[in-house]
Amino acid sequence: MKKIVSLILLISALSIVSCKQKQTDQKSDYQIVKQDTAMLLMKDSAFRRMVRNEHLVMSTLYQQTAAEYRALCYQAFNIGKVMLDMDLADKTVNKHRIIVLDIDETVLDNSDFEAKCILESTVYPKYWDEWCQKASAEPLPGAVEFLKYARANGVSIFYVTNRKEYLKDITIKNLADKGFPHADADHVIARTDEASKEARRQELLNKYHISLLFGDNLNDFAEDFEGLAVKPRKDAVDRFAGEFGKRFIVLPNAMYGDWEDAIYGYNTRIDDSVKFQLRRKALRSF
Ligand SMILES: [Mg+2]
Repeated sequence: MKKIVSLILLISALSIVSCKQKQTDQKSDYQIVKQDTAMLLMKDSAFRRMVRNEHLVMSTLYQQTAAEYRALCYQAFNIGKVMLDMDLADKTVNKHRIIVLDIDETVLDNSDFEAKCILESTVYPKYWDEWCQKASAEPLPGAVEFLKYARANGVSIFYVTNRKEYLKDITIKNLADKGFPHADADHVIARTDEASKEARRQELLNKYHISLLFGDNLNDFAEDFEGLAVKPRKDAVDRFAGEFGKRFIVLPNAMYGDWEDAIYGYNTRIDDSVKFQLRRKALRSF
């Protein structure tokens, strides 16, 4: 029934736009018609609910079905191994070596949660706790093997996550069940009062030598990237260009992240129709 209603709305919307097109020669441009149709549809709540997370379908499918995604994960951890071996050979290092990793979309795959949001037309935090409590997130390809290799070479592992404290125990269970080393209360550092990871990183840096940092979000590496708009984020990456694939190892995440929040000016609570417009506005075309 909902599909029929949406179809009728779609046809009506197209007719309205079509009439409008005939009335004004100047607005007959295909681009404008497309935009007007999309906006008319977005104003309908039933249709809006149906397509609320449509923009997430391809990125979630990419993570779940593209063999290229697996290859990128292996690539990241293979580069990590090469760089770790180089660091291990450096005899000038006189502190205990550690590797610092984010958890979500860096060592654990949460695409099942994203798929649930798409199918149920919901957004975070709905279902997030339920998903975490299952403790069934799969490891990213190559992550467990790489970290076991690091442990075998005397390197300690620290997981610095923005999962909240009350999810810490279940997250440790998930990591331990999947074979991750150092999955314990001392090595999983959850979010307390601030989202920034800088203070937690600095605390580790005071005691240890950080051989490598792994993350899917620039904020997993340095505070220099925090809260920046789209263009300044890119400029900041350019300034750190020499660090990527060296000390900073990035995992792909096209589903969510600060890259998306930057498009919305970090106003994540704005209406879906505004996000829809901002996404289109951010597109570069010709
Ligand atoms: Mg992450």
